[in-house]
Amino acid sequence: MVGGGFGGATAARALHAADLAVTLVEPAEHYIACPMSNAVIAGLRPMDLQVFGYEGLARAGLTLARTEAVAVDGAARQVRLADGGTLPYDRLILSPGIALRFDALPGYDAAAAEIMPHAWKAGAQTERLARQLAEMPDGGTVVLGVPGNPYRCPPGPYERASLIAYLLKTRKPRSKLIVLDAKDTFSKQRLFEAAWARLYPDHLEYVPLAGGGQVTAVDPKTRTVRTDFAEYQADVACIIPPQRAAPIAAAAGVADRSGWCPIDPVTFESRLTPGIHVIGDAAIAGAMPKSAFSANAQGKVCAEAVIDLLAGREPAVPKLINTCYSLVAPDDGISVAGVYHPENGVLADVVGAGGTSPLDAPAEVRHREAAYGEDWFRTVSHAVFG
Ligand code: FAD
Repeated sequence: MVGGGFGGATAARALHAADLAVTLVEPAEHYIACPMSNAVIAGLRPMDLQVFGYEGLARAGLTLARTEAVAVDGAARQVRLADGGTLPYDRLILSPGIALRFDALPGYDAAAAEIMPHAWKAGAQTERLARQLAEMPDGGTVVLGVPGNPYRCPPGPYERASLIAYLLKTRKPRSKLIVLDAKDTFSKQRLFEAAWARLYPDHLEYVPLAGGGQVTAVDPKTRTVRTDFAEYQADVACIIPPQRAAPIAAAAGVADRSGWCPIDPVTFESRLTPGIHVIGDAAIAGAMPKSAFSANAQGKVCAEAVIDLLAGREPAVPKLINTCYSLVAPDDGISVAGVYHPENGVLADVVGAGGTSPLDAPAEVRHREAAYGEDWFRTVSHAVFG
């Protein structure tokens, strides 16, 4: 099992609970969770609530290899580790998350991200963006660049836009946020747009692709963000670049030319290399969004499939659920839920299941949705990390 995030740690626990010998390969000392990190960026939540240790998994009896997986030999069924060791496997599950594509946007590389943080992997980047926003003088311009699909957490940029706008409205009222989007439609769009019209008419300007919103280049030295139509001078620029599966996916031969990993929707086994399963953000999971909720659900389903395959049984056809909560302001939440099943070789929406919060929900319902989001995060992180 490679990757101790929401997908990998879930699958490792399920395999261990079934008495299979499993080693979880994860180099990071702590796991720093992205869900709720937009509230950290807006100064509404302390960073330490995002940080989880691996002691809980060790206490549960799991074997951890605290090093990076650097290569996979799919024919010999072996993982090579950065510490020089190798791990043989009967079945390998990868849940390595994403890599940011520093080759996709002219001017935006790892050095530029120090000045124009993406904060799309929680940790130092989250704190950097929070600090930049806190230190920005009133009257400043914040620019948020949002990529085209697919990327980690479809509603995440719009939750971030909402909470940055909340920060500006309440603490720097002469400031403004400009959201530059590389697409015209997005997750929970009607709910977000209604919230922005209600809460932030003077603080948030949204520019879709059709309005010239796609960021085409950046210059970190001058904090300039360019589109084909205009040039924006930012005091704070958060640029979320296009993404792909983390590098170990390509090294293992399970990523295709898109950079993501095609999988069988019943077992999550790679379409490219047998014996390797891919879950979470790295996988092409059809209609299922790249979320921690999805990664957690896929971790359980994939582990069950692996248990069946190793026992020579036919894996059961799964149904998976995802729910994504977003805050549009503190104590003001919205959600989208979906149910997915294998259909024509992909994970497809179960038509008629799921949906979004009502557009005209009263304040009390929106408070409750915000609380559900917080409860979900506490429950899932406790179940995964202990
Ligand atoms: P990750 O959680 O990224 O875990 C991957 C792990 O693999 C990491 O620990 C990494 O160190 C390890 N790894 C990588 N390469 C190797 C290697 N070679 N060897 C060993 N280990 C390796 N989702 C929700 O459901 N709800 C939300 O409200 C939500 N909000 C979000 C807000 C933001 C701002 C962002 C950016 C994301 C949000 N998400 C949310 C999405 C969620 O964080 C991801 O979908 C989720 O973390 C995916 O889990 P994963 O297991 O695929 O990858």
